[in-house]
Parts: sequence; C-alpha cells; structure tokens
Amino acid sequence: MFTCRNKTCEAQWEESDVVIKNEGQGLLFRCPLCATRNYLERFEGEDGSVLYEQLEGRPDLGPVAD
Ligand SMILES: [Zn+2]
Repeated sequence: MFTCRNKTCEAQWEESDVVIKNEGQGLLFRCPLCATRNYLERFEGEDGSVLYEQLEGRPDLGPVAD
C-alpha cells in the first residue's frame, strides 16, 4: 500500500492501482488523483519477487526541474 506524499491528498493506492516508471530520477509513480510524483525503491525478495517501498520525499539527485 502506498500513500500519496501530497499532504492535501494522502490518497492510498495498491501497487496495481498505479504505474511505476523511471523518468530518470529513480522509480516513481504519479498519484492518479493529484499527479504528485511519489518515489519508490525497488527490492527483490529471496524468491525473486519484486517489492517496492515508498521513499520519503525524493531521491537526492541534485536539482530537479519539476
Ligand atoms: Zn495524490
């Protein structure tokens, strides 16, 4: 379960509700409701399954045009 980091939104989404992609700043999904970018980290389980964990804020990759 992910929670939109936009404090006026905070909508909750299942992984199947969102499109996870990499726009060059790391993995993220855009909230379907407010389009805020929510950043994710990808993990692989021991059984090879892929898990995503939501990051606070955004990755520290320097200035980002937004
Ligand atoms: Zn949102």
